Amino acid sequence: MSDLAETADVVVVGGGSAGAVLAARLSQDPAPTVLLLEAGHAYAPGAYPPALLDANKIADPDHDWGYTSRGTGQTQIPTPRGKVLGGSSAVNATVALRARAADFAKWGEHGAEGWSPAPTPAACWKASSLAAP
Ligand SMILES: Cc1cc2nc3c(=O)[nH]c(=O)nc-3n(C[C@H](O)[C@H](O)[C@H](O)COP(=O)(O)OP(=O)(O)OC[C@H]3O[C@@H](n4cnc5c(N)ncnc54)[C@H](O)[C@@H]3O)c2cc1C
Repeated sequence: MSDLAETADVVVVGGGSAGAVLAARLSQDPAPTVLLLEAGHAYAPGAYPPALLDANKIADPDHDWGYTSRGTGQTQIPTPRGKVLGGSSAVNATVALRARAADFAKWGEHGAEGWSPAPTPAACWKASSLAAP
């Protein structure tokens, strides 16, 4: 691994929702070598274990960092964060809700260029479908 890390043009740390997409996009250009580092298990597409495909299960302990956070009281609240290729989007009980158009508009108002207007349904579909390498 150290050889790869020393020779890669770009190292992306974390193969979650952002990192995996970033590495895939960078890899579309054949020139730079891209290394994607993921701390959790890297399952092949179609080989994700039942625990991650169970709609009744959030944060299976084998694929979660085990974080907790504290709200306004002193209570520690479990705060699931995926530790697996796919990141937190792989431990979401197979459900993902998209942000509302109004949220994208607000981000745009606050200066997030390129996020408003809301992405078209075609872009949303692309983000939620799998194109195996
Ligand atoms: C249960 C649940 C339900 C959710 N539902 C929705 C929803 O309906 N709609 C929605 O929009 N969002 C939802 N989210 C939020 C969404 O999943 C996250 O906002 C998004 O996945 C964050 O992406 P990310 O790339 O920033 O981090 P992550 O996807 O968490 O990826 C981080 C990756 O980095 C890896 N990593 C961390 N440290 C290291 C290290 N030192 N070395 C190597 N790898 C490392 C982790 O293992 C992980 O794979 C949900 C999240 C959870 C947990």
